[in-house]
Amino acid sequence: MSIPLPPNVFEKTFQKALDAFAGVVGRQWVLATDEDRDTYKDAYAIGDADTHFPGAAVGPQSAEEVQAIVRIANEYKIPLWPISRGKNLGYGGAAPVLSGTVILDLGRMKRIIEVNERFGYCLIEPGVGFYDLFNHLQENKIGLWMSVPSNGWGSVVGNALERGYGYTPYGDNTRNICGMEVVLPSGEIIRTGTGAMANSPCWQLFKYGYGPSWDQMFVQSNLGIVTKMGMWLMPEPESTLGLSMQLPNPDDVGWAVDQLAPLRMNGVLQQSPSIGNSLRIAASQSQRDEWYKGDGAMPESALREVLQKFGLGWWSINLRLYGPDEVNEANAKIIKAAFARHTNQEFKITKWHRGDPIANSGAGVPSVNALQIINWRGGRGGHIGFSPVLPPTSEHVLKQFHSTRRRYEEIGVDYYGSFTLFERHVTNINMMIFDQDDAAMTSKVRALFRVLVADAAKEGYSEYRTHLTFMDDVALTFDYNNHALRRLNETVKDALDPNGILAPGKQGVWPKALRGRQA
Ligand code: ADP
Repeated sequence: MSIPLPPNVFEKTFQKALDAFAGVVGRQWVLATDEDRDTYKDAYAIGDADTHFPGAAVGPQSAEEVQAIVRIANEYKIPLWPISRGKNLGYGGAAPVLSGTVILDLGRMKRIIEVNERFGYCLIEPGVGFYDLFNHLQENKIGLWMSVPSNGWGSVVGNALERGYGYTPYGDNTRNICGMEVVLPSGEIIRTGTGAMANSPCWQLFKYGYGPSWDQMFVQSNLGIVTKMGMWLMPEPESTLGLSMQLPNPDDVGWAVDQLAPLRMNGVLQQSPSIGNSLRIAASQSQRDEWYKGDGAMPESALREVLQKFGLGWWSINLRLYGPDEVNEANAKIIKAAFARHTNQEFKITKWHRGDPIANSGAGVPSVNALQIINWRGGRGGHIGFSPVLPPTSEHVLKQFHSTRRRYEEIGVDYYGSFTLFERHVTNINMMIFDQDDAAMTSKVRALFRVLVADAAKEGYSEYRTHLTFMDDVALTFDYNNHALRRLNETVKDALDPNGILAPGKQGVWPKALRGRQA
């Protein structure tokens, strides 16, 4: 197979750059065979893997090596796509937006530099996986809990940089970032916050530093390569109290959000619960053709059969309270009273106390079970998530739910959605599960995605994160003042990355030389 090259780069130049990279990291850490390239492509591609095909990968083991690679990339004008562990499944995995881009695989940089139990933080390198940090905390009996997303295979840093989330009170991962070390597109290395002082004891304690505060500038961006990150961790609580319920009807999600939103905002509920339709449980434990073999979206009658078999409602809701026993009990009473306005059902209660096994505590315990869902349709499975952000009210949630479900049914995909309630917004994840080898299905899913982006934009909803293929589409929906935000992004991009070497096209931000490629 011929090497996919970045635009405007000759093969000879590309090879020279790879040789120069090898001079930095050693020949064995420049990965440029067909097989190597294959491992970095999007494992869940929706029929568009060739559009995002990596040219090669390079694996540095230190920030100094990252700096050297960046300088070479500038010299040869080779685009780089940094990844931490490359498990961004459903959003493009390890692949770049632009074919021919060289993957900068930071997976070898996996030191847990510090965990501070007294102040509740860690300082880690990008290759540290959720399992690595979890094992470290457990093995050293450190009384700190992590927040872990549904797919626990990835890295703590990569997930926080993509604004991934988990379900503990520290679930909004990007909010836990406190202090970074970043290699800029020029090759210069900086530290943010008080890390900009030579010897600050507050780098992981105080987020802002002095003057402009830059941490979020490097989140979902192509302005820097994060080589170290401080993250706040949650002190292990004395106890937790879980409340779960099956909601029988499709519209129950509306009143549940209305009841919970004020309690989430005023802190009675400190974590962000996800209210998911029951297909997510069914899909992780069975395959579709056990229930329904016909074309089109699974009819309600077949779905009801699934729910009955698994003892599920249309929606499942799991809440968790963290803190001293008496406080949890008092908060549980308030939540029960709110639900009693709409249902006679009682919550199923689970309790955990410090010292009990961690498995059912409500701590962030990494797992990859959620990935089972990709087998739902059979074949080589994949999934993609459409994830708009809405105000936390029944009007918004029900309207969005019904319109998305209708769109799914139009193309014959089973509706699979969840609403995660944060302090002042809801993130609505809609999964589309497909068989990658079914070309008709993947092309329908691609078309559906664009319809959903347009439908949401009409209501003023944006996505919180998106797949490589749709980064331009979503960026285009930020259209206030004739796309003034895009112009700002481009101004900053040009100032920091004049050669356009860092992650071209990420989040719809293109360097000058490649502008105009977007839809
Ligand atoms: P994970 O393996 O944790 O799921 P990835 O490594 O796939 O996450 O990273 C997801 C995305 O975040 C990447 O495609 C890239 O755009 C960005 N990213 C990840 N790590 C870094 C980093 N260290 N510096 C800058 N951007 C990064």
